[in-house]
Amino acid sequence: MVERTLSIVKPDGARKNVIGDVISRFERNGLKVAALKMHHLSRKEAEGFYAVHRHRPFFASLTEFMTSGPVVLMALSGEDAIKKVRELMGATDPAKAAPGTIRKDLADSIEANIVHGSDGPDTAAFEVPYFFSTLEIHG
Ligand code: ADP
Ligand code: MG
Repeated sequence: MVERTLSIVKPDGARKNVIGDVISRFERNGLKVAALKMHHLSRKEAEGFYAVHRHRPFFASLTEFMTSGPVVLMALSGEDAIKKVRELMGATDPAKAAPGTIRKDLADSIEANIVHGSDGPDTAAFEVPYFFSTLEIHG
């Protein structure tokens, strides 16, 4: 099924100059960039985006990290896009991520793990419109 998913190159990815590397991995694997923008998240925006994690012990640190610099927001479309992006990202903890995944190759820690991807259809349906209006999505 053709799906849309939300991905983010997190502040550590922008700082490490791997924005192009991450996008390129998506493109090389059949995903289409349907929307794209750079943005520095406010505290409120980060807290709203990660609201499902608000009771987790790492929530304050995570929102601090996500507001520590600009991010690249993108909507990706393609066949099984949600699962495909999750596979290309690798496990949350880069130490546990499979070889060749973005997090294994590029990330430093379980928090600073370079990339976000929606984890299912419900999350994608919340996350894509959180950042992009209909008119900003091209595919
Ligand atoms: P994923 O991004 O793989 O879907 P989660 O949804 O579980 O992972 O967590 C959201 C984000 O919160 C992670 O990508 C990571 O940046 C951060 N995070 C998750 N677990 C931890 C943890 N134990 N300590 C610090 N940060 C964490
Ligand atoms: Mg998640």
